[in-house]
Amino acid sequence: MTELWKLTLAEAAAALEAGRCSAHDLCASLLGRVRAADPQVQAFLTLDETAVLAAADASDARRRAGRSLSRFDGVPLAIKDNLSVAGQPCGCASKILNGYTAPYDATAMGRLREDGFIPFGRVNMDEFAMGSTTENSGIRPTLNPWDTSRVPGGSSGGSAAAVAAGMAPAALGSDTGGSIRQPAGFCGVVGLKPTYGLVSRYGLVAFASSLDQIGPLARTVEDAAILLDGMCGHDPMDSTSLPGRHGGYAAALAEADVRGLRIGLPKEYFEVAGLAPEVRQAVENMAAALEQRGARRVEVTLPRSKYAIATYYIIATAEASANLARFDGIRYGARAHDADDLLATYRQTRARGFGDEVKRRIILGTYVLSSGYYDAYYLRAQKARTLIRQDFEAAYRECDVILAPVAPTPAPRRGELSDPLQMYLADIYTISVNLAGICGISVPCAVTNTGLPVGLQLIGPALGETRLLQTARIVEQAAALGVRFPNL
Ligand code: GLN
Repeated sequence: MTELWKLTLAEAAAALEAGRCSAHDLCASLLGRVRAADPQVQAFLTLDETAVLAAADASDARRRAGRSLSRFDGVPLAIKDNLSVAGQPCGCASKILNGYTAPYDATAMGRLREDGFIPFGRVNMDEFAMGSTTENSGIRPTLNPWDTSRVPGGSSGGSAAAVAAGMAPAALGSDTGGSIRQPAGFCGVVGLKPTYGLVSRYGLVAFASSLDQIGPLARTVEDAAILLDGMCGHDPMDSTSLPGRHGGYAAALAEADVRGLRIGLPKEYFEVAGLAPEVRQAVENMAAALEQRGARRVEVTLPRSKYAIATYYIIATAEASANLARFDGIRYGARAHDADDLLATYRQTRARGFGDEVKRRIILGTYVLSSGYYDAYYLRAQKARTLIRQDFEAAYRECDVILAPVAPTPAPRRGELSDPLQMYLADIYTISVNLAGICGISVPCAVTNTGLPVGLQLIGPALGETRLLQTARIVEQAAALGVRFPNL
């Protein structure tokens, strides 16, 4: 039998069910892989080995007694550091949350725990999910497991790197403007941003509440579908959670078929200056491969996509400035105890606790919301957001699924995106999906001649996850990359 750490989530579940391994052995093998690989990748912020093995032993005992919580009882998942797991640190990779322990489970986490999934450590991210490289982590950067001179992407860089390196079969991340899909693309794993409201945000530390969604990162489309099945559905604790019954995504993969499917290629996406030839080629090749399998290719237009970056960086910073106001050292946050008065306490707490990018965004967000500028910036951005959403609605009258790059280039070198504006521009292909509230998935589709993964993005309409995942499954089959692990 192959080493247990190499198993996908579905394979691990099957091995557990057939009694080919125990949850203890599975977790012990992954802990061993973390010990070997993580010194080079630095994906994990904390990993409580004793707690993991105790949870695995409890799962094994349930299975022996015939009382497994689900087929997945005993499968571990790495958790991004902005998702609450009761009793574990939840620091958002920020110094300001040093010492904070989450008092409850995020709904998404709680639901997966009810199925027996085991939280497996806290993984790194850009501080408060603000960034695209994980270099903005307030703790330390994470490195790309395929080439440690490069970034893993962000902000869920720890989640993507951990899964790509074989340190966890799958992980949870959050996506406000691309933070699941882009690191998945740079690390060669699958990353899904669900439709806004499909997965409860309760227990996710808010960055920009109207854009944030929790989603899975995994090595296969099937694993991502399994996790979405486990997490999705209405939650009274989140007022933006969608009503109705959802799920059945993994089961629907058996009917994956692209015959007759209309694949839309947005004209504007291929006019972006800075789109790397190998990324363009990978998308082209996949469009051709899907056509060969019976899909029809159509050109669509998203004329307002040129406003997406400006719109996003106004709305996201505005919401962030409101959401982060609670970290003042009084309500939340590691207090500066040596200040003389209340104002100085606020000032010093924030000056020491927040990194530069977080401060930049709070300042920008406060500015665009201030009276006199509100109409000129925030209100106009909201109007532009509506137009961007309408572009997608019009496009989905012509096509069923949109095919696009995830990012203009494969993973950049460390430091290459250190200029904030350069970094913001690299979000061009992902942020419109959050602004429109629709769903998107990043699927590995090629490898460059220097061995870097290239991801491809599929974008679906609101609640179009079934077809999105089915198409992603065909892309995965057509790419035929097989299972690969970096040498670490
Ligand atoms: N890179 C984007 C940003 O910096 C997206 C981040 C995210 O999705 N959390 O805001």
